[in-house]
Amino acid sequence: MNGETGTTVRFRCGHGADAAEARITLQRDCPLCMLLAETKRSREQLLRRVAPAGRAALARETRIGASYEWICSRGHSRYTASVRETLTGPGCPKCARNAQAPAARYEGGVPFMKPGLKTRTSQAEQKLRMLLGERIRLPHRVNAIRINRTFYGKPEVWPDIIIPALRVAIEYDSPGRDKTSHRGLKEASDLEKDAALEEVGWAVIRVRADGLAALGPYSIVCSVVSAGVVDEVLCLLGVIRGEEAVTALMRSGPSG
Ligand SMILES: [Zn+2]
Ligand SMILES: [Zn+2]
Repeated sequence: MNGETGTTVRFRCGHGADAAEARITLQRDCPLCMLLAETKRSREQLLRRVAPAGRAALARETRIGASYEWICSRGHSRYTASVRETLTGPGCPKCARNAQAPAARYEGGVPFMKPGLKTRTSQAEQKLRMLLGERIRLPHRVNAIRINRTFYGKPEVWPDIIIPALRVAIEYDSPGRDKTSHRGLKEASDLEKDAALEEVGWAVIRVRADGLAALGPYSIVCSVVSAGVVDEVLCLLGVIRGEEAVTALMRSGPSG
């Protein structure tokens, strides 16, 4: 064998030397294909992560130690790493650092009790909570949800009603006494709040009262809070998390 042996080996998977030039055909897959199988990934998936300039070479690559430039799926800057590092670790150094960063990232989506939190609660909102509480079990010991960004300077949001078992928050929106106050600004901030919750796995149902139009994917437009509105909330909860999950929260008997 001469020094070019490495380039004249062909593997069972078809990688390595071209069939015409191959001096040896090994009856096993190339190391890269073997690692892909071990890590339950396909070469297509791997190719989607490499920088375009490396695509053609990676499509035929057999060595797991070969270095390539990769694109982070979370939008961090490109990074160089071996195929092995990319398949078995976080690869992207920024993602690796985030994975080790203090709790924050893991706490996103966790509901908790914020002591001393005072929010203005309207009678309509109280009525909604009471009527809903007659149908499903609502926790009393949570009033805030941790998020992965800040909202008005805080790493948390305070929805009106929180259902941790379903990871659904319910907001009661009404135009307020003067019916005009900064409606556009309020809507933008409400949508930002919804996005912050969705980011950590929560869905938001908005009960839009007294002339407010629908906002977000799960809106219930109504004039006042009624039993019918609560029926719609329960129906939406079923749409979002499945009937079974909602039934599990139901109080027994027709009205509990
Ligand atoms: Zn192969
Ligand atoms: Zn990254």
